[in-house]
Amino acid sequence: MISTRTDPIVVAGAGHVGLIAAIALAKSFDNVVSLGVLPEGTDKRTTALMMPAIKFLRQIGLWENIEPHAAPITTMRILDGTNRLIRSPAVTFEASEIDEQAFGYNIPNVTLTSVLGDALKNSTVKHVSASATHYHPIENAIAVEAGDGSMFNANIIVAADGRSSLAREAAGISARTWSYNQTAIVLSFSHGRDHHDISTEFHTEQGPFTQVPLSGKRSSLVWVTTPAHAAELLELTRDQLAMRVEERMQSMLGAVTIDVDPQSWPLSGLVPTSFARNRVFLAGESAHVFPPIGAQGLNLGVRDAETLLETLPNDGMDLGSANVMSTYNRKRSPDIIARTGAVDALNRSLLSDFLPVQMIRSGGLELLRAFSPLRGFVMREGLRPGSGFRFSRKDVRRG
Ligand SMILES: Cc1cc2nc3c(=O)[nH]c(=O)nc-3n(C[C@H](O)[C@H](O)[C@H](O)COP(=O)(O)OP(=O)(O)OC[C@H]3O[C@@H](n4cnc5c(N)ncnc54)[C@H](O)[C@@H]3O)c2cc1C
Repeated sequence: MISTRTDPIVVAGAGHVGLIAAIALAKSFDNVVSLGVLPEGTDKRTTALMMPAIKFLRQIGLWENIEPHAAPITTMRILDGTNRLIRSPAVTFEASEIDEQAFGYNIPNVTLTSVLGDALKNSTVKHVSASATHYHPIENAIAVEAGDGSMFNANIIVAADGRSSLAREAAGISARTWSYNQTAIVLSFSHGRDHHDISTEFHTEQGPFTQVPLSGKRSSLVWVTTPAHAAELLELTRDQLAMRVEERMQSMLGAVTIDVDPQSWPLSGLVPTSFARNRVFLAGESAHVFPPIGAQGLNLGVRDAETLLETLPNDGMDLGSANVMSTYNRKRSPDIIARTGAVDALNRSLLSDFLPVQMIRSGGLELLRAFSPLRGFVMREGLRPGSGFRFSRKDVRRG
């Protein structure tokens, strides 16, 4: 049912989360405004989206146009690439162990940008290609001013305007931020051998080095390292860099040829004190930022959009009531806080030279390697919070 509300839902920010949220909301609500400049398509990252996010994209009609450019990830492998005294065992996770054909798909960000931009044009969303400059609370609404002079009285704001969110600030939500002494180098490459849909993550003393399959004999790479090492890698020629990548991967995919030049992303973290307040609902990086470990960021952003859609009443009631905001807060807090903490702890355990920390990490991975029900739990929980305890047919057979 389409609601009879007159003030629009304004989605601030036209990054991937803002576009997904606006397109999804327009399926159930009229009068959705997307306020923000579309990304320029210069982002050289790829995004691994897990099956629950893919299912949601399919449900809102976006997956069909993304799928031809997406590569499945059926196996995930963690290898110890450190020179430390205590080495962790190799752990392999197979999607088939939890009755899935794939954990998810790896998609170039330029593809996401172009498919989402086209879908926006073909939707009922009104797109205003300008940034929000001011928000003023008024009775039962928020007045929004944009850089091109347009003004709206919004019933609610979806703050998908990234880590330095103006809408979050205007709502009076503070955020704790921190930075890591790490930079991610991203690039894509072709290789001599087939990747067999396997993603391999090498744990190194500087952070994870993660190869993720792309279509054909190609893969993308997220190489987390120190800022100084990242600067050194960016100075290399394509051939020199290809040699470094091949060495780090112990030539497991054969000869490497870089075909998308490297880009660097400094790593930081952010967690706000609330996820909805004063008619502003946080989604995407306004609500959570953490290092790219275990492909969580956009997956969480998709869950923010999905939860908004589930939570907002579409019977004409006020979308920004205290009850709706507290429900959104209650639904999003545990997922976001648990993932931010887990990713932070895993990242710090890689960097720590402290022997007991290495022993705990190594012991944890050994448990995962040896004990398949625990592996199943971690795999399911990694895909979607709360699904870890669902037993697969294989767990049941194991008895
Ligand atoms: C190296 C790396 C690899 C990653 N890999 C993965 C992965 O494999 N899987 C995964 O799930 N996640 C991954 N992530 C995380 C993922 O990239 C982010 O979660 C995602 O890009 C966040 O999107 P967003 O739309 O919230 O933020 P953004 O992309 O930052 O978009 C925010 C938008 O808001 C706009 N904006 C800002 N201020 C205003 C304003 N006042 N008015 C209007 N608009 C405004 C900005 O211009 C921008 O376009 C990775 C991150 C990194 C750094």
